[in-house]
Amino acid sequence: MDGTFNENDLSRVVEADRAHIWHHLIQHKPFETNDPRIIVEGKGMRVWDQKGKEHLDAVSGGVWTVNVGYGRESICKAVYDQLMKLCYFANSAGSIPGAIFAEQLIDKMPGMSRVYYTNSGSEANEKAFKMVRQIAHKKYGGKKTKILYRDRDYHGSTLATMSAGGQDERTAQYGPFAPDFVRVPHCMEYRKHELDGAPEENFGEWAADQIEQVILREGPDTVGALCLEPVTAGGGVIEAPEGYWQRVQEICKKYDVLLHIDEVVCGVGRTGTWFGYQQYGIKPDFVTMAKGVASGYAAIACMVTTEEVFDMFKDDASDPMSYFRDISTFGGCTAGPAAAIENMRIIEDENLLGNCAAMGDRMMGNLQALMEKHKVIGDVRGKGLFLGAELVADRTSKEPVDEKLAQAVVADCMNQGVIIGVTNRSIPSRNNTLCFSPALIATADDIDQITDAVDGALGRVFG
Ligand code: PLP
Repeated sequence: MDGTFNENDLSRVVEADRAHIWHHLIQHKPFETNDPRIIVEGKGMRVWDQKGKEHLDAVSGGVWTVNVGYGRESICKAVYDQLMKLCYFANSAGSIPGAIFAEQLIDKMPGMSRVYYTNSGSEANEKAFKMVRQIAHKKYGGKKTKILYRDRDYHGSTLATMSAGGQDERTAQYGPFAPDFVRVPHCMEYRKHELDGAPEENFGEWAADQIEQVILREGPDTVGALCLEPVTAGGGVIEAPEGYWQRVQEICKKYDVLLHIDEVVCGVGRTGTWFGYQQYGIKPDFVTMAKGVASGYAAIACMVTTEEVFDMFKDDASDPMSYFRDISTFGGCTAGPAAAIENMRIIEDENLLGNCAAMGDRMMGNLQALMEKHKVIGDVRGKGLFLGAELVADRTSKEPVDEKLAQAVVADCMNQGVIIGVTNRSIPSRNNTLCFSPALIATADDIDQITDAVDGALGRVFG
């Protein structure tokens, strides 16, 4: 293209995008004939595209991120003021917003004590993995390097986090992976028939016991950590059943296995409490978070751990590996914690945790009503404003619907001006779970508009 690029000339923007952008997570072939979608503006729960069309965003920026909604002037102002004062300094030194946000965050996480700033969820998870590996060397003579992860969980896009990835359909051509990552079975009640020997009763405890079996098989002296999502997100919106978490905690304690909870999606209010793990009475050793920390107003992620873990890295300084020899350049950006402080204030002052829980209940009720009406919905599940509806061709066999049909539901909702998501659950891999994660500011009218759109779409796609 030549001439002056004017951002208000949206047809030029579309052209530039089509010519030069490699979008995330999608096939680009359709863009040879269709325009890519450009999101131009957002306010509250709504966004506008290049054609000026308004959409109710039921997925908080597509991937569970914009928890406090779009267009928050106070966050933008806090970031502006901070950037004018100091934009960056490497985190070997401290910053004012970094220290303040860390104190406020730790206040919400009894038992935790130290915050390590990074700039993506994957990176935060990698930091925890690296700490586990270093602890194995410091404390266990190089043993206990294995990290357990669960079938269907996702922890990021980097090589180590893909090595801990429970969704093979996303990683098939990216191996070979890092060694000493070992998979444990999923804990999904609705699809327990996939698991050999799963009982009708007490499935939660049984699923946790499968983790113990893996530890025993691998050798307890080789297993350093267990990494789990509190509610599995992209793997199909999966909440562990009753009895699961208590057993998980007991097993970790029994075998001296550190518990790493990946709150990248659930953290900062999404499930109706500050963190998802807080609903299950567990005490993690590592908690990682990203998306909702600053609701997408700035890139910030954190790896949070205990004083006990921190103390292990305060050794004799004559040893070159006495401390955590790691850095994240942009973990020193001050825009992230400045935005995060204001984001947290908004959640508190506007009681968004309470609203999330109440609106989550309303949405769950609406989805359950849709399940009565539409046989294609086999299961509805989730917590707070983090919900999924799994579509099946047959309720008895639980055979997933053809992925194209689930996508047709999403497209129909989009035509109605409501953006919903679809994610993966089934094996063989098919995207058959509709997912919903509106901002925590959602009103009853917003929730009803979302589920009404789904109702209409299901009627049109499945008759
Ligand atoms: N962990 C979970 C549970 C996620 O859903 C994601 C991203 O969707 C990540 C980690 C990776 O976060 P990021 O994309 O910021 O690296």
